[in-house]
Amino acid sequence: MIAPIRIVPLLPVSSEFVSSLAHPLHSIFQTEIILDLPLDNILTAVYDDSRLQYNSTDLIRELLNRFSPSSSKIIGITSVDLFVPILTYVFGEAQLDGTAAVVSTYRLDNTIYGLDADPILFFQRSLIETVHELGHTYGLYHCKDQECAMHSSTAVEDIDLKSAMLCKNCRDQIGIGD
Ligand SMILES: [Zn+2]
Ligand SMILES: [Zn+2]
Repeated sequence: MIAPIRIVPLLPVSSEFVSSLAHPLHSIFQTEIILDLPLDNILTAVYDDSRLQYNSTDLIRELLNRFSPSSSKIIGITSVDLFVPILTYVFGEAQLDGTAAVVSTYRLDNTIYGLDADPILFFQRSLIETVHELGHTYGLYHCKDQECAMHSSTAVEDIDLKSAMLCKNCRDQIGIGD
């Protein structure tokens, strides 16, 4: 079995929503999923008041400060907008072959594009991006298979072409059985 996954809801994200990711993540990674208590005091430390966004690299560092050393992968899930300095925004960020990752659901919500809310699509996008960032923590690079969750995506339209599943090649690389 691959390393367990610790999911940390970062408030104000809905912890009920985050907990709904646990079962599909268990099916995909076939490992133990630990759902942590929500954290409510971590985001203010990484807020950039000139960009009005939250620094994802700093957020990963904060998670590591609180949880490492850890034999689990740690994924923080937040509803606020994340960035790295060279990009307008990121859907998430991960330590490649490391411990921690973060995912933002902010830009996965149709309503920020002026469209009607679509809870099923929102869930699917959130699951895909969570699988993607976790895949990086297990050492996976971007995958050429357009349906694989490890395919790279810079816009929601790209995410919508993917599935939440890892292709066989990616599964083989990290040692997940069929
Ligand atoms: Zn990636
Ligand atoms: Zn793949």
